[in-house]
Amino acid sequence: MNYSKQREIIIDTLTKNAVHPTAEKLYEIIKKEHPDSKIGIATVYRNLNKLATAGKVKKINALENSEHFDHNTHDHYHFMCNKCKQIFDIEVDIAPDIVKKIYESTGFKVTDYDIVLNGICKNCLNDNINL
Ligand SMILES: [Zn+2]
Ligand SMILES: [Zn+2]
Repeated sequence: MNYSKQREIIIDTLTKNAVHPTAEKLYEIIKKEHPDSKIGIATVYRNLNKLATAGKVKKINALENSEHFDHNTHDHYHFMCNKCKQIFDIEVDIAPDIVKKIYESTGFKVTDYDIVLNGICKNCLNDNINL
């Protein structure tokens, strides 16, 4: 299988699994869904990093130890559930103009940001209630 076909599978799988997977997790899904592709973990890593450099996917660096990847490259924040470790998207509307406000109050020009909020997601909160 050629490189562009492999890359296609990687992007496709990332887009369909919009839960901000790590490279390892994405590799597991690819292995299951495309058993014949012979895509190894190193290939997944290499492609994700290349795509991140090219701005086609977003690498979320702000998280402990693991790098998660996001096919959604428009500005948004993230919420990580401490219980199920899933990462969810939070729209910027919730705290708009953050870049402008930082500039106004500090004079710093933000060129990029990675905002990750931690807590317990709705699903896990409901699980707790049912216990
Ligand atoms: Zn959760
Ligand atoms: Zn996201």
